[in-house]
Amino acid sequence: MITRLLEKIFTALFPAQCIICHSEETSCNICQNCIQQLTINRDLQLPWIFSLYHYKDERVHICIHHLKNYPDELLIHEILSHKKLMITGWITGIITYYQIKNIVLVPTPIHHSRFVDRGYNQSEIIAKGIRKILEQTLLNISISIHSEIVRKNKKTEKQALIMDREKRFKNVVNIFTTTGREAKLPAQTLIVIIDDVTTTGGTLQEIYNQFPYHHVVAFTLAH
Ligand SMILES: [Zn+2]
Repeated sequence: MITRLLEKIFTALFPAQCIICHSEETSCNICQNCIQQLTINRDLQLPWIFSLYHYKDERVHICIHHLKNYPDELLIHEILSHKKLMITGWITGIITYYQIKNIVLVPTPIHHSRFVDRGYNQSEIIAKGIRKILEQTLLNISISIHSEIVRKNKKTEKQALIMDREKRFKNVVNIFTTTGREAKLPAQTLIVIIDDVTTTGGTLQEIYNQFPYHHVVAFTLAH
């Protein structure tokens, strides 16, 4: 933990540098030129999942990897802001259709041991970025982040490293439980599950199943 903390302080001492092209002509760790080049994901994996960028794009891959090593809120805010219209357009359509009054962002939980090792949950960093963007547009909707509502009970193999599709599904079956707090959320609540990457959608589906009484969608940075 302390090594990570020192690492972060050390990083903060240096001027920002683009993690993709290494240019120092930037105010955060990704330059405007590289943000423009990030490939948008056009696959609709499941109708309720919105994945913004294409994971096979090497530049997107670098951003996701960076987020696993450094809780770079500024970088995430920049790449989300670049597609702000897409994100707010997607949410606005859903909340109008279901007459939603309340949005609860649920970052995909990581196992406690991984949290201790890393010091943060990368999905929570993305959730903070999403909340910031939505708050600027949806003035009459309450938007909150509930990180504690779903728990991950067992440490699993990393989904992206499992090549067999069926095994990937089995890897995440029954690994999440809720704390019971979701039952107290008003009926007109929209649950938005947040994750960095989705492959088959298996993890998101497992969390989706925890909220049988609410409208549920998911946002991921990449697919
Ligand atoms: Zn760059």
